[in-house]
Amino acid sequence: MKKIQMVDLISQYEKIKPEVKTAIDDILDNAQFINGPDVKSFQSELEAYLGVKHVIPCANGTDALQISMMALGLKPGDEVITPSYTYIATTEVIGLLRLKPVFVDCEKDTFNISPEAIEKAITPNTKAIVPVHLYGQSCDMEAIMEIAKKHSLYVIEDNAQAIGSDYTFSNGETVKTGGIGDIGCTSFFPSKNLGCYGDGGAICTNNDELAVKLQMVANHGQSKRYYHDMVGCNSRLDTIQAAVLRIKLRKLNDYIDSRRKAADFYDASFGKLAHIHTPHRADNTKHVFHQYTLQLDDVINRDGLVEYLASKNIPAMIYYPVPAHRQKMFAELDTECGDLTNTDWLTSRVFSLPMHTELDEEQLNYICNAVKSYLEL
Ligand SMILES: *Cc1c(COP(=O)(O)O)cnc(C)c1O
Repeated sequence: MKKIQMVDLISQYEKIKPEVKTAIDDILDNAQFINGPDVKSFQSELEAYLGVKHVIPCANGTDALQISMMALGLKPGDEVITPSYTYIATTEVIGLLRLKPVFVDCEKDTFNISPEAIEKAITPNTKAIVPVHLYGQSCDMEAIMEIAKKHSLYVIEDNAQAIGSDYTFSNGETVKTGGIGDIGCTSFFPSKNLGCYGDGGAICTNNDELAVKLQMVANHGQSKRYYHDMVGCNSRLDTIQAAVLRIKLRKLNDYIDSRRKAADFYDASFGKLAHIHTPHRADNTKHVFHQYTLQLDDVINRDGLVEYLASKNIPAMIYYPVPAHRQKMFAELDTECGDLTNTDWLTSRVFSLPMHTELDEEQLNYICNAVKSYLEL
């Protein structure tokens, strides 16, 4: 059996190796490392894939979030509603810009931010909501967009884990995640569903004015060469990464299918077991399974299970053991917390199994049998 990994980038690379090598060789031959033609091409190909008017590539997903908040003109003290149950980057940039993170709870079944909790947290200082499509499944965007409209709030979607996912509104319209709010942010970190071979990120929007601002902020606040209208940053996707992403974007839907097949296998295997809960799939969104995350009842020792799996050479991870509102980084900052019962409960009860595009049936069987045998111990 092939060695089981959380993410198997080497086996995936084997299948696209000649294409990738040719693309990278071309760039080396032409030395167009920054803003080469592949960056522009990837930009338009991603716009077409996501069905959005503008994509602004940048250096990573964290920058994408920061640039978005800067382009929206958010000012120190402005309140930004965000889940506490997320990867740290989402909330960190809020703190970095000295905005005020307002941490609200998630739903226990989908792990995603609760629209009711958002509504409760709104004050006259609230400026934006940052929903995170956690583990690859869209948040309840219809409810969130309604709240945002009612209170004139910006919506920045953190789509780092869910590129390729979509959401179907009650009028039947289906929109890809990232293209629903004012701005969508994504990451091309290697292990993400669309990952490059280094760091990368992108911002998307359907708003022409905002697109100009986002581009300016990402490029030293520059309006034309050597004229800088505002303080920005330097955040670019380099040409080699863009070339890799062009190749992988063409395969993204197949990659998503492979992930969903692995998830189906896990679901079928664990669905009927006591004390373990498979990920809930909301029926108005396509889950793209960045992670396959299970919940365990109190009677199961989670750390014991993770250790047992490790002893069988099966990696399992806790995403995330410490929610944002309990991180030391926020201790000195001005923050606000709603009721975070689900967040606190989940951080003590979830674990994630290997999830990637290259899992074969032999590996999946081996993983499922190991989990089952621990539960029966
Ligand atoms: C990965 C990730 C990011 C940050 O992306 P980087 O490219 O690593 O900066 C932000 N938000 C979420 C939810 C992520 O999973």
